[in-house]
Amino acid sequence: MTMRDTDRALVQAATAVAKLRCRGDNHTVAAAARTADGRVFTGVNVYHFTGGPCAELVVIGAAATQGAGELETIVAVGDRGRGVIPPCGRCRQVLREYFPSIRVIVGPMDALRVVGIDDLLPETYVWADHQIEPTPGPVPTPRPAD
Ligand SMILES: [Zn+2]
Repeated sequence: MTMRDTDRALVQAATAVAKLRCRGDNHTVAAAARTADGRVFTGVNVYHFTGGPCAELVVIGAAATQGAGELETIVAVGDRGRGVIPPCGRCRQVLREYFPSIRVIVGPMDALRVVGIDDLLPETYVWADHQIEPTPGPVPTPRPAD
């Protein structure tokens, strides 16, 4: 997909947040996402050895907090001039399930491009597609409390 002006603006927004807010080891990546109606949300990762969330996940939470609907495009940018960073496997899975048609900006700064989340995670497992319907039958007897 071709980069639009709004995609370039999103990269600039994430880059600005990375420069301003990613100082030290706790916050090293910034992300920015845009909704179809043009609202932009930003966030930084929360690094921690217990598995703190990536910047993309923080943005999803921030957008939900503000009542945003579908995210249309997302990008992550590393601190210290590292440029655009592609989403990790966990983020790809979350993005695919939350926003199946989201566009993701990837690539080196001099050759940025937009790809669909399906391109980043083809043939993926979709949790909702593999849930077993409860079968009608006798209600199990509750276990006595321990
Ligand atoms: Zn991630």
